[in-house]
Amino acid sequence: MLIACLDLEGVLVPEVWINFALATGIEELKATTRDIPDYDVLMKQRLRILGDNKLTLPDIQNVIAEMKPLDGAREFLDWLKIKFQVVILSDTFYEFAAPLMAQLDYPTLFCHNLVYNSQGEITDYAIRLRDQKRKAVLAFKNLNFRVAAAGDSYNDTSMLAAADIGILFRPPQNVIDEFPQFPVTQNYDELKQQFLMAV
Ligand SMILES: [Mg+2]
Repeated sequence: MLIACLDLEGVLVPEVWINFALATGIEELKATTRDIPDYDVLMKQRLRILGDNKLTLPDIQNVIAEMKPLDGAREFLDWLKIKFQVVILSDTFYEFAAPLMAQLDYPTLFCHNLVYNSQGEITDYAIRLRDQKRKAVLAFKNLNFRVAAAGDSYNDTSMLAAADIGILFRPPQNVIDEFPQFPVTQNYDELKQQFLMAV
């Protein structure tokens, strides 16, 4: 039996922080793991910007509530769930993901939590498990599953390397150049083909 592990943002849904940056007009919030590989550095920068601009969790949730999955994502996921066991491994937060999960028919999601106060000010973030994408893949392999994993950016590459099959989906050029060992897919049909080849 094969477990299909998927990244969330950039694979099934748009980047939450980029959408929030567009909604607020704060250019600095457009940075993602595509630009800053160190997640801790990136998140500390984001929280500082939120504080400087007096932006709260409800402000972000209001933007997320208007977001939709990428075109074809729901259909792709429905197809994948029929063929394989599917687990989404993401570095997002449950507080952000909920409205998007409803639109994807509530797939299994492993991610993190935000720390916020009664005013909705985000004071910190709580990583459930550091390097969880890679560790989850290794744990599934320990449970005697074969694992195929797909993601779009730097924070996915250790997961792709740990999996039996690693696949890039619409990655930026710098990730393609640095990780030539992973096949590159540009649409859901190509991604389906790679998952079928993993069986
Ligand atoms: Mg991503």
